Amino acid sequence: MLLGCRSALRVRCRSMKTVRLSALYATVAAIGVLIASLGTDAVQPRPQPPKSPRLYVFDCGTLEGDPARFNLKREEMATTDMSVACYLVVHPNGTLIWDTGAVPDAEVTSENQRTRHHIVLTNAERYVTLGKSLKHQLADAGHAAGDITYVALSHYHYDHTANSNEFANATWLVRQVERDAMFAEKPPDLVQRATFNALRNSKTVIVKADDYDVFGDGSVVIKWAPGHTPGHQVLLVKLARTGPVLLSGDLYHYPEERTLDRVPTFDTDPAQTRRTRAAIDAFLKKNRARLWIQHDFTANAALKKAPAFYD
Ligand SMILES: [Zn+2]
Repeated sequence: MLLGCRSALRVRCRSMKTVRLSALYATVAAIGVLIASLGTDAVQPRPQPPKSPRLYVFDCGTLEGDPARFNLKREEMATTDMSVACYLVVHPNGTLIWDTGAVPDAEVTSENQRTRHHIVLTNAERYVTLGKSLKHQLADAGHAAGDITYVALSHYHYDHTANSNEFANATWLVRQVERDAMFAEKPPDLVQRATFNALRNSKTVIVKADDYDVFGDGSVVIKWAPGHTPGHQVLLVKLARTGPVLLSGDLYHYPEERTLDRVPTFDTDPAQTRRTRAAIDAFLKKNRARLWIQHDFTANAALKKAPAFYD
């Protein structure tokens, strides 16, 4: 018995203890490995592809907006707050992340606690309040950034690119003019290159057509919508139950831009924005599609968020 160990035998006793403990540890470790290997599949199963597309909406924060930059007055508006939304399309043949937020996940230190983040840009600063990281929300929906098939950004502004580096394994769908601006020696205002630098070496498809059919069946289509930035784009998702939905990018920010016909002060080509808006309006009407304005705080608040989804 180990209790009976005396000085002369101490070394041996110790070694016996060591041997017995080692065996115990080895057994525990083996059970642990077994549980872990079972657990990987049992607890976190890879989601089966759905039969038709699903659209997940993630809460990527609330941005404090300045009406003057949108040619609006405070008294004309329901709220000056803007939602920041990120979206995941899960198609039978792959996945597409659309926009990646305003705050990098690395800066989210406490999940589930809404925190006000100060974002310092080259010529400006912004405040974004955020709860969960994008990574956490993706995981709740059963996905991981490294497994996503395609990444597309509506455009290059910081509040759409924050977690782009996480999707460097995906194939990047981008227009040449937008990519050129993103990696120019002097990037445009409101760009935070460090948030998307890794995409530079990603597998990339340079989108040339006005309409780019992501999965080849017409259900998920990136549409060219220039004006806000040169390569700005919007996303059409045809959902079996919900119907066709068009994600706006920043074609509009506030719903009052649409109702009061205002164009932001900082669009790269305001006249082109107006032409694009007219073309998109005609498209929406013809296809009976709904426009989801990504920054529309009130409309976005009413949407169900991941892990719930639209199909
Ligand atoms: Zn934006």
